[in-house]
Amino acid sequence: MYDLIVVGGGPAGLTATVYAIRKRLNVLMISKDLGGKTNYRLALPWIEDYQVIRGLEIVNKFRSELEYLKFARHMEPVERIDQDEKGFNVYTRGGGELQAKAVIIASGTKQQRLEVPGEKQFIMRGLCYSALSYAPLFIDRKTVVVGEGDLALRSAAELATVANHVHLVGLTGDALNSVLGKKLASSANVTILENYTVSEVKGNGFANQVIVQNPDGQDETIEAEGTFIEMNLIPNSQMVKDFIDLDDQGRIKVDCYARSNVPGLFAAGDVTDSYAEQVLVAVGEGAKAALSAYEYLLPML
Ligand SMILES: Cc1cc2nc3c(=O)[nH]c(=O)nc-3n(C[C@H](O)[C@H](O)[C@H](O)COP(=O)(O)OP(=O)(O)OC[C@H]3O[C@@H](n4cnc5c(N)ncnc54)[C@H](O)[C@@H]3O)c2cc1C
Repeated sequence: MYDLIVVGGGPAGLTATVYAIRKRLNVLMISKDLGGKTNYRLALPWIEDYQVIRGLEIVNKFRSELEYLKFARHMEPVERIDQDEKGFNVYTRGGGELQAKAVIIASGTKQQRLEVPGEKQFIMRGLCYSALSYAPLFIDRKTVVVGEGDLALRSAAELATVANHVHLVGLTGDALNSVLGKKLASSANVTILENYTVSEVKGNGFANQVIVQNPDGQDETIEAEGTFIEMNLIPNSQMVKDFIDLDDQGRIKVDCYARSNVPGLFAAGDVTDSYAEQVLVAVGEGAKAALSAYEYLLPML
C-alpha cells in the first residue's frame, strides 16, 4: 500500500509528486505522459523567442527528477478509483490495481477539437487553444475565435483589447446577451458571425485562413494570423465521478487546502474548480495538494 498516489504527470502532478518525495512519503505517480500540456508550444512566424509566462523551467526540473526516479512513476492511464475501509483502490487500463492511503487527482482537462480539415496540420502553428496564454502575442493581428460558450466569449473579449480584428464564430443567444457579449457586439474591431460554422483551416506553414459556412450554406474566407479554438474544456474527472462532488462543468470541487469532499482525496490543477488554467497556478496547486495530503497522512505515518 502506497502512502500517496498522484494521478497525472502535468505541472500539478509532477509538483505534487516531487513534494511528496521530499517529505519521504511512499508515493507513486501514475500518468499517461510526463509534462502534460506543457508539451505544447505555440510557433508564430513573426516571433522567434517570445515572452510568455509559463514556469517551464520548474516543470522541466521536476519532470527530469521523475524521469530519473523510475520507482516513483508508472506510465498508464487510470480508469477508475474507489474506496474501501483500508483506503483507495486505483484501477489502471491494463488491469492493474494499486492501493494508497491518499490520492491526488491532477489529470487536467481535454480540449474539444473542431474536427475539420487543416486543424491537425496547423495545431500550435497559428492555431491554438489558449487565448488566456497567448492573446498578448497578437497585437494588431487579425484573429478568429471559435466556440459556443463562456470561454469563447472571454477569449474574444481579451483578444479585442489588442488585436486588429476579431471574428467570433459560433456564439449565439444567451452568451451574446451577457455584459461581455454586448460589449463585443458594440466593438468596432469585432465581427460576430452568428450561426456560422467552420469548415476548414488553411495555411502555408502557419494557419492564415479560416473557411466558414454562412447560414445560407455558402463558404466565406476569413484571413486570420491567429485562430483560437475556445470550446469549453472537459475535465478528466471520470475516474472519480461516482463518489466525489463535481461542479456543473465536471470539475472536482476543492477547498483552499486542495481537499475534495472525500477525506484523503485531493485534487490540483485544471481538473479542479479553482481559478485559472495556467502552468504556474497548477504548479502552486500541486504543491498545496501535496502538503495538504501530508498533513492528512501524518497521524498514519
Ligand atoms: C495549447 C495550450 C497552450 C497553453 N499555453 C500555456 C502557456 O503558454 N502558459 C501557461 O501558463 N499555460 C498555458 N496553457 C495552460 C497550461 O498548460 C495548463 O493550465 C496546465 O498544463 C495545467 O496543468 P495540469 O497538471 O493541471 O494538467 P495537464 O497539463 O493537462 O496534465 C494532466 C496530466 O494528467 C495525465 N492524465 C490525464 N488523464 C489521465 C488518466 N486517466 N490517467 C493517468 N493520467 C492521466 C495527462 O497525461 C497529463 O500528464 C496552455 C494550454 C493549452 C491547451
